[in-house]
Amino acid sequence: MSKLCLKDFDAYGFDLDHTLAKYNLVNQIQLTYNSLVDFLVHQRGCKGLFVDTEQGNIIKLSHSGKILRGSHGMGMLSQEELVSAYGPNLIWEHYEHAREAVRARAGNQKFAFWENYFDVPGILVAAQQTPSKYYQPSSEGVKQWLLDLKQNNKCVFLTTSSHIDYASLTASTILGEDWKSYFDIIVTNARKPGFFQDQKPFLSLDGVKEHEVVDYNSLQQHGVYSSGNHSDLEKFISKLTGADKPKVVYFGDSLCSDAFPVKTLTNWDLILVLEEMEAEGYHPHDNTHHYWEPEERDRKIVRNVNLCVDEEEEAYLLSQQWGSFFYHPEADPLHDRHMNTFWGELITKYTDIAIPSMEYIAGLPLDHQFARFDHSVDGSTDGFSPAKPKPLLPLVLSD
Ligand SMILES: [Mg+2]
Repeated sequence: MSKLCLKDFDAYGFDLDHTLAKYNLVNQIQLTYNSLVDFLVHQRGCKGLFVDTEQGNIIKLSHSGKILRGSHGMGMLSQEELVSAYGPNLIWEHYEHAREAVRARAGNQKFAFWENYFDVPGILVAAQQTPSKYYQPSSEGVKQWLLDLKQNNKCVFLTTSSHIDYASLTASTILGEDWKSYFDIIVTNARKPGFFQDQKPFLSLDGVKEHEVVDYNSLQQHGVYSSGNHSDLEKFISKLTGADKPKVVYFGDSLCSDAFPVKTLTNWDLILVLEEMEAEGYHPHDNTHHYWEPEERDRKIVRNVNLCVDEEEEAYLLSQQWGSFFYHPEADPLHDRHMNTFWGELITKYTDIAIPSMEYIAGLPLDHQFARFDHSVDGSTDGFSPAKPKPLLPLVLSD
């Protein structure tokens, strides 16, 4: 299988929140605790879980819809209680609906899922008051990397579902007041995943003719727009780069809004920024550690990036109660450590590579070769870089 190499692309697209913009998770989560609901305090680590609103349970699902673990209120459910609620096979009857919802991101009365801690109104308002408390500024290395990507007539673009006010606050906090200069085109209020499917026109955010519909032929380099759609954006990229069928890679953190639509509705490649990789373990500072891939041990850091890991932050992302985001040992009778959770299957199928942070990839040379996930292998773990998360390693290595 071909490797992924950044210098092979004509255009580089970025999501903003939790992709280019790294949040100070500890402050964010504490804010969530204070401003949201009491029970979330007791359910930290709930990312990737489903709420079965019919039975009032929170459940963790396997890739095939089997219930791996469940809780009711503050207490975990025993195996017997799970069997009595869901039957001997423990298959959740709304599993197919859940998969459909990932496709459509449509609301469904039967369940909800937490993909993200911070999709909560009110939290955004607080972030606006003291942005530096909630975002980590990008290192000089990341800024240089963005500039390096633009060399040789290539296109760097931002596509965020945030409105311009919030996107501008976020981007200026992480990249500085000149944040717009890093991008050839900026699309806000993109309504992903609809951006990749619908044909909504671009709207101008120019002060004079604000919200006027802009024909794709009139999209301007360094323009800032609202709404829009991916196929017109691709025509703009083609015009800018001179590439007939431009090769595009998109960076995003959301399996539902970024990865799934990009891999099913476009020809773009997808790099997933996955904070859980750091939380569940691979040791970025220790090049002697035994679970580095051999070629990664020799990797050269060529820009001044920030590879520090906040241990308190990792602890927030980890869940002793629910186990790994990627792997559930009780559902792996062959002990081959493939990804066997619901979200693990989506990572294998709908991303090309997964990285822990932008800082990590920005440190590498542009000609670095990344192994890809093998979409034809169930639960493939090949695409994690710099290394597989610890729960996916053979026991002898992970202990
Ligand atoms: Mg995001």
